[in-house]
Amino acid sequence: MKRYLLPSLFALLAACQTAPVPAPAAPVAAETSAPPVAAPTPGQQWLYGSAEGRIALVQGWNAVAAYVESRAAARPNASVVLAPGASAEAAEFLPCGDKPLAAVFDADETLIWNLGVTAATQRMGKAFDPKVWNDWEQTGAGKAVAIPGALDALARIRAAGVEVIVNTNRSAGNAEGNAATLSAAGTGNFVHGSTLFLRGDDDQGSGKDGRRATISETYCVVALVGDQLGDIADLFNAKSLTPPERKALTTSAAFDPMWGNGWFILANPAYGPSIAGTMVEVFPASTYWEPASPE
Ligand SMILES: [Mg+2]
Repeated sequence: MKRYLLPSLFALLAACQTAPVPAPAAPVAAETSAPPVAAPTPGQQWLYGSAEGRIALVQGWNAVAAYVESRAAARPNASVVLAPGASAEAAEFLPCGDKPLAAVFDADETLIWNLGVTAATQRMGKAFDPKVWNDWEQTGAGKAVAIPGALDALARIRAAGVEVIVNTNRSAGNAEGNAATLSAAGTGNFVHGSTLFLRGDDDQGSGKDGRRATISETYCVVALVGDQLGDIADLFNAKSLTPPERKALTTSAAFDPMWGNGWFILANPAYGPSIAGTMVEVFPASTYWEPASPE
């Protein structure tokens, strides 16, 4: 009897290791209405909480650092900032002359993760609240953290003699708090108007092309790094573009070779213009499929 029991026990244990864990039973609704329990979104779980998210960002930052080092070793003639009026059909880049080299970074979900305010808004059951965000810009220092891989990469970039510049849509009115947040996260001591450029520095609102042009008056920009396409060029944010059209624009002959070669997008599945698209926009009609035995 024992001889047969043991193999069966092992078989059962092996099955337990591979079988999907059954979902816990749904909680029974309380009679009194309790406040909803805060929970992270799937995008937040992946980005801020997962090993995979951390690894993807470290990989991205390593690629940024290696590219910038290569540019510092072999100085380019042209910047990676598009010239005014450039398009996918006529992509022209600003000339570098003998200007010092710089790499330009977005701040939010590029240099830093906004953990404090993200958790707070989840607890409040809100998506995005401009008032809460403004408070965060003023008082959030110490509660935002450097993105995995960023600090090592920034050290390599600075060691290569390339200036690190931040171009962010945080408000110029909160320059002091924004600089304090970046400093507390260890990314550097940035100076407004010199190495830190903010929304409100010009009359272009959240468009960043004007600030990129201002930075380019002093520097040859060898890398643009962000989590959203507006961190690269404003033309990607044209309101008329559907998600597939926006995606197609990034693959145009002039722009496609730039990804990983001066233009870098870091993963952010938590928020932003990338979180968009209908069923037909996300899933091409050519891949339509039905199971043989639908429920
Ligand atoms: Mg960002």
